[in-house]
Amino acid sequence: MTCHIDYRALAGLLDGNIVLVSGASKGIGRAAAMSYARHGATVILLGRSVSRLEVVYDAIEAIGAPQPAIFPLNLESATSQDYLAVAAKLEKEFGQLDGLLHNAGILGDRVTVEDYDPELWAKVMQVNFTATLGLTQALLPLLGRSQDASVVFTSSSVGRRGRANWGAYSASKFATEGLMQILADEHQNASIRFNSLNPGATRTAMRQSAYPAEDPQVLRTPEEIMPTYLWLMGSPSRGISGQAFDAQPPKN
Ligand code: NDP
Repeated sequence: MTCHIDYRALAGLLDGNIVLVSGASKGIGRAAAMSYARHGATVILLGRSVSRLEVVYDAIEAIGAPQPAIFPLNLESATSQDYLAVAAKLEKEFGQLDGLLHNAGILGDRVTVEDYDPELWAKVMQVNFTATLGLTQALLPLLGRSQDASVVFTSSSVGRRGRANWGAYSASKFATEGLMQILADEHQNASIRFNSLNPGATRTAMRQSAYPAEDPQVLRTPEEIMPTYLWLMGSPSRGISGQAFDAQPPKN
């Protein structure tokens, strides 16, 4: 897996680009939305809590970046009609889409498969995978209008190698990696690229709930892992598709 943590993006890397970030309210999604906006993108903030997204919206306006937009959507209950409505709104307001970061996710439970509640398993698959699939399907026509579109799927180390007690979360990330590879293969020689990105251990609420005894101070912050997020969203990764990336060097 390749990591671009030392990449330094030019200030105007994403000038004129329309980029949608799911789960933009906090953690890695918030940092990515801020970072893309800082580098010139008009960012569509997608998430389930308008009030939390408004805080990010205000922070983007405060740095003088292009005015973002808020698209409220709860991925747990979202249907194909909702994804089509997102696409229709995007088409009306912006006409195209240049970047899509699938970042929203939930952890689910940390128990064995035998003990895993099937309803919770289905919920994790819905938010982490099925909604990712639905949103991608609906947005492909708009991505196709871009000269150089990038779709980034958020993975995990347990989406590349199964590990005990990671249940639905791990399965959802494996499914996401598979979807990325299928789409990349279906769009060879097209102007849309599809890649996956494992953030690695990062100081967020999700990481804290997965590892409650861990000292968060030993972890990189979401802002510190942004170089690979920028590299994958911007023109330096043009022509690269179907690959799995890491945002930070894996721990041994
Ligand atoms: P957080 O829990 O901090 O943030 C998750 C984001 O997803 C929030 O914006 C949250 O919104 C949103 N979200 C959750 N459920 C829904 C829903 N039903 N509808 C819409 N949005 C929703 O997680 P991280 O920032 O840590 O994780 C971001 C991504 O990175 C995830 O895909 C995760 O699996 C992955 N990852 C993280 C690692 C880490 O160490 N942090 C390591 C490996 C992978 P809300 O504010 O409403 O809760």
